[in-house]
This record gives sequence, structure tokens and C-alpha cells, in this order.
Amino acid sequence: MPTFRAPVQDTLFVLNDVLGYERYSNLAGFSDASPDVLEAILAEGAKLAENVMHPLNRVGDMEGCVRNDDGSVTTPKGFKEAFDQYREGGWMGLAVPVEHGGQGLPYTVHSAVGEYMSAANMALMMYPGLTQGAMAAILVHGSDEQKATWLPKMVEGAWTGTMNLTEPHCGTDLGLLRSKAVPNGDGSYRISGQKIFISAGEHDMSDNIIHLVLARIEGAPEGVKGISLFIVPKFKLDASGNPGARNAVSCGSIEEKMGIHGNSTCVMNYDEAEGFLIGEANGGLKAMFTMMNEARLGVGLQGLAVSEIAYQNAVAYAKDRIQGRSLTGPKAPDKKADPIIVHPDIRRKLMTMKAFNEAGRALVLWTAINSDVAHRSEDGAERQAADDHMGLMTPVVKGVLTDKGFEHAVMAQQVFGGHGYIEEHGMSQFVRDARIAMIYEGANGVQALDLVGRKLGLNGGRAVQAFFKEVGEFCEANRGDEQMAPYTKALKKGLNDLQAATMWLVQNGMANPDNAGAASTDYMHLFGLVALGYMWGRMAKTAQDKLATGANGSADFYETKLVTGRYFMERVMPETSAHLARLSTGSATMMALAAEAF
Ligand SMILES: Cc1cc2nc3c(=O)[nH]c(=O)nc-3n(C[C@H](O)[C@H](O)[C@H](O)COP(=O)(O)OP(=O)(O)OC[C@H]3O[C@@H](n4cnc5c(N)ncnc54)[C@H](O)[C@@H]3O)c2cc1C
Repeated sequence: MPTFRAPVQDTLFVLNDVLGYERYSNLAGFSDASPDVLEAILAEGAKLAENVMHPLNRVGDMEGCVRNDDGSVTTPKGFKEAFDQYREGGWMGLAVPVEHGGQGLPYTVHSAVGEYMSAANMALMMYPGLTQGAMAAILVHGSDEQKATWLPKMVEGAWTGTMNLTEPHCGTDLGLLRSKAVPNGDGSYRISGQKIFISAGEHDMSDNIIHLVLARIEGAPEGVKGISLFIVPKFKLDASGNPGARNAVSCGSIEEKMGIHGNSTCVMNYDEAEGFLIGEANGGLKAMFTMMNEARLGVGLQGLAVSEIAYQNAVAYAKDRIQGRSLTGPKAPDKKADPIIVHPDIRRKLMTMKAFNEAGRALVLWTAINSDVAHRSEDGAERQAADDHMGLMTPVVKGVLTDKGFEHAVMAQQVFGGHGYIEEHGMSQFVRDARIAMIYEGANGVQALDLVGRKLGLNGGRAVQAFFKEVGEFCEANRGDEQMAPYTKALKKGLNDLQAATMWLVQNGMANPDNAGAASTDYMHLFGLVALGYMWGRMAKTAQDKLATGANGSADFYETKLVTGRYFMERVMPETSAHLARLSTGSATMMALAAEAF
């Protein structure tokens, strides 16, 4: 059976020591989560994740969700009670503004705890996760009346939310969507159409489900310019605002799928259901992006979370399983064989996962802090810089962390040999669960296109130039420091590769857009390596400073950081060269064959 320990010490190191969490105490909500309160919240979140969410992870995988004949859906045993504990603990509204019933604490804290929860039980955490995306859209685009009507119960967790974008013929290309909205003349609309793959579309965990649905108002333009976003509750509200009559929305079936069995993935049928426009007519895409951006960071976090729990279990197994002898002589002479952790190839896997997880955590938390600055700072220039960072990093966090999350789930499974392939050890669940994160919220190929096609050129390349400048200045500032050389030299080489790739795109992508498309996935991963490498540079610098000024009994922790960071620079960072070499070959060969030749 898999086990899980929330990496609280590591989170605190990143937040307090590397990112200087206390520097942000002037932002709204941060003073209510001072470092000691932060530590207490993380400890509480860890307990809930380890003791309540995690024990249900296998249960959810094995039982799955069941659609009953009346269209209701029963979630796995224990899910509702665990969700009740989550909402009663106030976790749902942790970062929601106080005026809407939340606690107004930093989104950064929400993200830190979110990693523990998703690692412990990804499928269960999708119910509150989708609700948070829906709440974000209502918060930003809803009228005051809509906020007052829908948010308090969602913040409480009494009602949950969903995102309804996908239709059978329309996934990535939302301009094709057909769901229809007809005005009733009283401000409401009748929504008709079919949505598929809707996570948490129907279940038994809340009193009402607030669907956010993309549809086209009768007579609206074709394509993405004609789509609008609607609030469609499962139960209409009565005069006192409580769930009353059933709305004409129902779950037609649930999908049999590869993983996240504990989450109900529904076909949703809308048959003239009552809905309310949110934001402007034909402005659905903008409102949808608010949901998607929030959700994309959440999905990136899922990639990291599964990589972390898979890694932890691989470490435990590698220390316990004895097979063969160390190449340099027995390490456990009292036993018939050595534990497999002595073998370099097992170490390669464990170190690769460890080095990625720790940098990935730092990247997520750095981005989360930027989200808080972008939303809460009173300084316009600071807000803009943080918003630039968020826009640039969102596809990187989503695309890179989920591609690697799956790769590492497989790597951790490999540490178990054949025992990883059978269900008993739970490793195959991590592989199956991690796989979806590469697909939903925009498949990773589309994240790469978003980075290359939209984010790079935005505002004359302002965001990417700021990132290059920051990483370049870090390398320069530490150039004379011999101890930092193993980190800064590799990082500078990676940055040079990234800048060369960016220049190649500027010169070749405009003239032939297929060049940009052909380069995009390599570019996204090259970008991710430099971002993760920068995180290692900063973590190494912090660890060295701590060791130099007295480590307070934590010398082992900092020494381990330095070794792990060196591994990343020696063994992972060099991949930037391969990405650059690949993408600079352009699209000619890739696109040369006619479709019939395949
Ligand atoms: C378990 C699960 C849960 C989901 N939950 C939700 C949910 O809650 N709400 C919701 O609305 N949807 C949900 N989805 C749908 C999901 O977001 C879509 O599956 C995803 O966006 C991709 O759409 P598609 O499956 O139609 O693939 P397609 O759009 O058909 O894409 C197929 C492939 O082509 C690539 N591709 C498409 N267009 C381009 C292009 N222009 N350039 C380059 N490559 C391209 C894609 O990257 C992909 O690899 C869920 C899906 C699953 C499986």
C-alpha cells in the first residue's frame, strides 16, 4: 500500500528562505498568514491530506463512481465524509476574499496545501478544484448580485462547481461549439446542448452543483467571438435562495476511463435549462480564460503532486527491496543481497525525480506568489510585472510539470520492477492518474503553442525579456563565487540555449508558422528546464548562505539540497542543448510527407 508524507519542511524552506515570503507582508492577507501561522496551516493541511484524503485514494481507484438509473451518481465510499472535513475546515475558501465568505489568505498558501491534497488523492481533490475555478470566474466576471447569490455557498462547500466547455465535436477548438442559449426575456436564458467529459458533473457530495457552461446566444457570430458563459444550477433557487425545483440538466452517462476513477466524468445534457449570463454577451472566452488559467496552474500542481507521491514510494521500496550486489562491493554484507538503492541506475531515477520535485515545488510557489502580487499589490508596476510572469509561466507550469509528472510516475513504477506493474503496490494508479493531467485544460501541445504563439510576443516580448534579465542577473551576481559555479555555469549555458531558441523563433517562426508549431514542445521544455534550473540556483544560494551563517542543526538538509541541485545541473540541465538542436531543424522534414504516406 502506498504511503504519503507531506513535504512541509521543504515547502517552508522554499517560501521562507528562498522566496522571502515575509517580504510580502504588505499584501492583503499576508499579515494574517505570518510565518508561524503559515507553518500551522501547512501542518494542519498535511494532517488532513495524510490521514483523511490519502487512505481513500486506493478506495476511489478501485470503487470508482456509479451512475444510478435515476441519473444520480454515487461517489466512492468515504469521499463525501472526507469532503465534509475539507469544507468544514474552511479549506475551500482559504484564499477567497473575506467579503465573499472566504478567509482572504494568500493564494500561495492555498497552492502549498493544494500540492499535499492532490498528492494524497487527486481524484477527490478535483471536486473542490473545479469549484475553485468556477468561483474564480464568478468573482472576476459576475455581477454583484451573482456573487451574492452563488459564491457564499460555494465558498462553504455546500455547493460545488463545474466547467462545461467540451462537446463531442469540439475540444481544443471551442469556436466549433454548438450549445445554444435563447433569451427568456426576463434576463435568464434557456440552455440546450450536450457537453462531454465534465469532471464532477454529477455526484452526491453537495446540495447543489453550479455548472458554468459555454454556449452561443441565438444569432451570435460564428467562431470564438460568439460564445458566452452561463451559470446553470442543478437545482433552481427558491425565493429564499435555497435549492428548489430541479433544472433541466442531467447526467446522461459517466465515462469508463484510464485513471482518476474517484472523479465522476460526465456526459451532461442541457434541455432548455435555466441559465444566467455571466460577464458580457459574446465575452465567454475571456471569462473562460479566468477559469482556465486558475485551473491550468492547478493541473500543473497535480503533475508535481503525483510525481512527489510516486517518488516517496519508490524511495521506500528501493531501501527495502534486496537484489544483487553493489558494483563496488557489498553494502549489506549481513544480507544475501544489497537493497536496490545501491545501484547507480536506481539512483539515477530517484535523483531525477527528487531534483525535479524540489525545483517544481519552488516554481509553483514562485508563480503563486506572483499571482498574489498581481491581484493584491497596490503598486501598478509591480502588479504588471507579476501579471506578465503569470501569463508566461502558466503554460510552462501546466505543460512541463504534467509531462514530467507522468514520466516520473512511470520512472517510480520502474523502480518496483514487475511489482510496479501489478495493482497491489498502487504504483500503476499513479501512472494512470497522472496521464490525464497532460490532456485536460488544454492538451500539452496546445500549452506549447500558447507559449510560443501568444505569450512570447505579448507586449513586445516584455515578459520573456524580464525573465531573461532576472536569470542573467542572478548568474552575473554569483559569477565570482566559486561555490556557486556548478550551478551558475550550467544555468547560464541553459539560458544561452533558451535565448538562441527564442531568436531562432523570431527569425523563422513568423516567416513560416509551421516552424513555430514544430518548435513549440521543445521550446516549452527548454523554457521549463531554465525556469527549474533558476529555482535550483536560488535554492543552492540559500542553502550555502544558511550553511555559512549557522544552519541551526539543519546542516544535513542544506547539504542535501546542494547535492540535489548539482545533480540537476549535471544530469538534467544539459537537455537544453538537445531541445535547441531539435527545434532549430525547423519543420521541413516533419511536414514533408503527404498524409497518405503515413
Ligand atoms: C477525464 C477528463 C476530464 C475532463 N474534464 C473536463 C471538464 O471538466 N470540462 C471540460 O469542458 N472538458 C473536460 N475535459 C475535456 C478536455 O479538456 C479535452 O479532452 C481537451 O481539451 C482536448 O480536447 P479533445 O479531447 O477534443 O482533443 P482534440 O481537440 O480533438 O485534440 C486532439 C489532439 O490534437 C491536438 N490539437 C488540437 N488542435 C490543435 C492545434 N490547433 N494545433 C496543434 N495541435 C492541436 C491536441 O493537442 C490533441 O493532442 C476532460 C477530459 C477528460 C478525458
